[in-house]
Amino acid sequence: MVGATVSNYFDSSFTVTASKHLQDQYIKDIPFLKPVKGKQNFPCLKLMSAEKVDNARRAMRWGLSCDKGQCQERISKNGKEVIEICKFKPTIKQVEENIADSNSCHHYMQKYEALVSKHSLWNYHAFFTIMKFNKKLFEEYLDRKVTVFDEAHKIEDQIIQFVGFDIFSGQVDECNLNSEKYNFSDLDSMIQLTDDMAYSYAKKIKDIKERAAFQNNPDYELITGLERRHDRSAQAKIDIMSDKDNFVVNDPVKDLNGNFRTISVKPIDVSKFANSFFETEYQIFMSATIDKSSFCENMGLEKDDVAFVDTMKSPFPI
Ligand code: SF4
Repeated sequence: MVGATVSNYFDSSFTVTASKHLQDQYIKDIPFLKPVKGKQNFPCLKLMSAEKVDNARRAMRWGLSCDKGQCQERISKNGKEVIEICKFKPTIKQVEENIADSNSCHHYMQKYEALVSKHSLWNYHAFFTIMKFNKKLFEEYLDRKVTVFDEAHKIEDQIIQFVGFDIFSGQVDECNLNSEKYNFSDLDSMIQLTDDMAYSYAKKIKDIKERAAFQNNPDYELITGLERRHDRSAQAKIDIMSDKDNFVVNDPVKDLNGNFRTISVKPIDVSKFANSFFETEYQIFMSATIDKSSFCENMGLEKDDVAFVDTMKSPFPI
């Protein structure tokens, strides 16, 4: 109620909470918040149509949820490889202008409805995903005055999932790099790998843009995907180089045949990165278990920029 009152006062807000259960509580009590829930909560219309299931509850029972759907696929059209977007997926513009097909993907409808509304309700993972990877894509919808972070003691654990870098074998292959050339227990070698990946993506983007086929019929989805992967690799190198002693390389994950699958490079202290997730003019952090000094230190906040509201004594009777 305190968070919602402040959101209402500022007229535009994000509210971020830790679990689906808490999201449900918010929606029940504060109807002006538009929720964004994960893909696993919605039946995928494309899978339902492929499996000839017309009942949403049955689809969920059968596991045909949106997280399994292929929202975009590489297909061959007239001998050319193109990306095909699922026909049920609306665009955010259609949702904003209220002209999206009534039979559109439930997951994207609620997500875009939340993004175009003044007040939306997120879980940490979905919110940080947007702030980290899709800021450019949704730029015009992220201009809100205040963010209310509920259960704020959980932020550090959430942020650590979004800083550093995960490298998957598929990306190494996509960049035509040989994973055997790199030492997966050495930070410098991993920095080299992120650099080589960024170079390879930049070259791919340049080559595709120069092709006559692209100029006649531009495939922007393909370019956007490559640009996103390029930016992630380039940013990872910058993050790691800016504070090398703060990063550790995890043991690589290998498949049963001993082939490289994935590796992650993570920071020990996230305070330098936390700020990039706090984009609105004001942030409110709510928790029963934080104190000003350690919270500011962990989140990289200047104490003088932070006002702390505390109760001297619990208002609840023992
Ligand atoms: S856009 Fe929606 S309906 Fe289409 S594949 Fe993705 S999750 Fe399924």
